[in-house]
Amino acid sequence: MGQITRESMEYDVVIVGAGPAGLSAAIRLKQLDAECSVVVLEKGSEVGAHILSGAVLDPVGLDALIPDWKKKGAPLNVPVKDDNFYMLGEGGKIRVPNFPMPPLMNNHGNYIVSMGNVCRWMAEQAEELGVEIFPGMACSELVYGDNGEVRGVVAGVFGLEADGSIGEGTEPGMELLGKYVFLSEGVRGSLSQEVIGKYNLGEGHEPQKYGLGMKEIWEIDPEKHREGSVTHTMGWPLGKNAGGGSFIYHLENNQVYVGFVVHLNYKNPHLFPYMEFQRFKHHPMVAELLEGGKRIAYGARAISEGGYQSMCKMVAPGVALLGCSVGMVNVPRIKGNHNAMLSGKAAAEAAYAAIQDGRSSDELSDYETEVREGAIGQDLKRVRNVKPLWSKKGLITSLVVGGFDMWTNTLAGFSLLGTMGHGKTDAEATEKAALWNPIDYPKPDGKLSFDRLTNVAFSFTNHEESQPAHLKLRDSTVPIAVNLPEYAEPAQRYCPAGVYEVVEEVGKDPKFVINFQNCVHCKTCDIKDPSQNIHWTVPQGGDGPNYPNM
Ligand SMILES: Cc1cc2nc3c(=O)[nH]c(=O)nc-3n(C[C@H](O)[C@H](O)[C@H](O)COP(=O)(O)OP(=O)(O)OC[C@H]3O[C@@H](n4cnc5c(N)ncnc54)[C@H](O)[C@@H]3O)c2cc1C
Repeated sequence: MGQITRESMEYDVVIVGAGPAGLSAAIRLKQLDAECSVVVLEKGSEVGAHILSGAVLDPVGLDALIPDWKKKGAPLNVPVKDDNFYMLGEGGKIRVPNFPMPPLMNNHGNYIVSMGNVCRWMAEQAEELGVEIFPGMACSELVYGDNGEVRGVVAGVFGLEADGSIGEGTEPGMELLGKYVFLSEGVRGSLSQEVIGKYNLGEGHEPQKYGLGMKEIWEIDPEKHREGSVTHTMGWPLGKNAGGGSFIYHLENNQVYVGFVVHLNYKNPHLFPYMEFQRFKHHPMVAELLEGGKRIAYGARAISEGGYQSMCKMVAPGVALLGCSVGMVNVPRIKGNHNAMLSGKAAAEAAYAAIQDGRSSDELSDYETEVREGAIGQDLKRVRNVKPLWSKKGLITSLVVGGFDMWTNTLAGFSLLGTMGHGKTDAEATEKAALWNPIDYPKPDGKLSFDRLTNVAFSFTNHEESQPAHLKLRDSTVPIAVNLPEYAEPAQRYCPAGVYEVVEEVGKDPKFVINFQNCVHCKTCDIKDPSQNIHWTVPQGGDGPNYPNM
């Protein structure tokens, strides 16, 4: 695409991604200066189409951004009424009482929401303030200035030929340039990864860690529905195979969010996270709730889990990384939306002050200071050892020692453990297949559990088949020559959308097939491939899932 001439447009601030982080930044910029020109570009067909969260929302971010959100009709309609935590065994459960948990774990005052709907509402607020929002516009490239600073992005490239070349029907897109560019792409953003690499922003920080979150929306029997109820579980079916657990949130209209997170630092390449989720729904506690109901939507998304010590440097000349592009999830709370909002607000305030001073395209270091030393840093610092304890010492130790550590951090602001490291990346954590036994998963019954492709249809995902695959192999020989013999090619299992297949036919060499049309943009392949050979790039705008109210 190098020789193409493109039109360009200048803004004060260009924002990539209409999630809670990007939209908060846009709103705050306009609150501070109605004349500030702000554009938000979103790859989903509409705002909210690619948003997947639990979601129990801590309103602290929204309170700071739009204090009268209630009056303005924000879709926070279901306050949390009860909070339950169970350790599951195959056929039973033990309730973990709430009283030993530090107050930060309490969901009182939080809301069960559709973050897709919250983002749709935030987009309306932003547009009323004069923000330009363009959904269906994927940002596929960064534009650099003469001194290596980030000047903008290329957005809106459509209709490439299947081999990636430019054809007669190709729309070359536009350059959107800004005094500052905010990357609020969420977890493992493709442009964010480029910036982290180019400016070496990860240096001196722990590697980012991830989980894979899968989620279904169910409509259940009204008799069993308990609006405002929140349940988390750990234990079965993952046991010692992987860290993770489930969430069950009762929202409005007899709907329930049923979700399952598998930490991606699991060692056994035979593990099949999607099938673990399906198996989980057959636990008597869950089956009893869902029986007679129907699953109406499915989706998946990676979640950042590295926390405080994995937050990379978040500014470079002309660019700032926001929200989960840095990784701001409080792991024991499974919450990141509030921090995404607070980071958007902080980035906007830093950019506004810089522009007022006549600056542009430099490092917004005040933003980074606010994140690390302000409310976000405080939220994440208190819980920084929970994830490494879980990874290194297992679930029970992390509950007991991690719980104690959260208490000392909360009450006295210190930890006997200091700050623990994470060590390996999730890709490096994968061990050779020969060291592990394959896992035998029960077949889905089509009532409570579903095969992957049937479920993917309920993500309403779509990618133009004539387009080049946006999932690129750095070396096309690696899946069959390396990953298959050494790791039983785990892409076949870790992808929650069935994108990757190894097709083996008698008398022929095995073939690695990429069904990119199924991709739900969770980014797990980019994270977990043990050879780090899969590169998730952004497809053309409007492609991907079309989540209703995830
Ligand atoms: C299963 C699961 C459960 C969770 N549960 C909770 C919970 O209960 N409570 C909570 O607070 N948090 C929860 N989280 C975490 C929360 O979802 C994240 O912290 C939050 O989404 C981060 O917001 P963000 O704005 O940084 O990114 P996102 O919400 O991911 O938004 C990024 C947006 O940018 C767009 N985008 C990305 N790249 C491009 C590009 N190149 N061009 C154009 N657009 C682009 C995406 O389409 C998306 O719309 C959960 C996460 C998962 C996966």
